[in-house]
Amino acid sequence: MILKNYPSLVLNADYHPLSYFPLSVWDWKDAIKAVFLDRVNIIAEYEYKVNSASFSMRLPSVVSLKKYINLSRKPVFTRFNLFLRDHFQCQYCAQNFKTSDLTFDHVIPKSKGGTTCWENVVSACSKCNLKKSDLSISKAKMSPIIDPYEPSNSQLQLIGKTFPPNYLHESWIDYLYWDTELEKN
Ligand SMILES: [Zn+2]
Repeated sequence: MILKNYPSLVLNADYHPLSYFPLSVWDWKDAIKAVFLDRVNIIAEYEYKVNSASFSMRLPSVVSLKKYINLSRKPVFTRFNLFLRDHFQCQYCAQNFKTSDLTFDHVIPKSKGGTTCWENVVSACSKCNLKKSDLSISKAKMSPIIDPYEPSNSQLQLIGKTFPPNYLHESWIDYLYWDTELEKN
């Protein structure tokens, strides 16, 4: 079975993806379950069909929620969201890294009273993190590229949009590059 290769792109009721990075996708089982529970509309389908005794249907490649989910809630302060805010870029040497190679650094070191919050933590590669150690930015002569800030969900979404997802089914493209599509007209 290669059914795991049939993810469904999940759009909010306004046809925007719930999140761009990581892309909001469900596996085919969740997508079909949501169809049967009448929670989503099928927008596009794969050629591939699943058959059972009671039904036969093409697997959905794009679904949209019937009920709009409000995304105005503040983003959770997670490593991933932090790396995303910082464009997966070490804030000291300006190089890009995979999430697995990034660490987080306290701008004002914990030992000097710095707290673990959006405003005091930045993404750093291990080399820079080690070099900065628990020195202040003036002692270390290293200062982050950005002034760390608490991002909004829409800011994170905009940043996420600049990173192409690993897997793009052609039926997803219209929804991912919505703004580009509109400009063409
Ligand atoms: Zn670095």
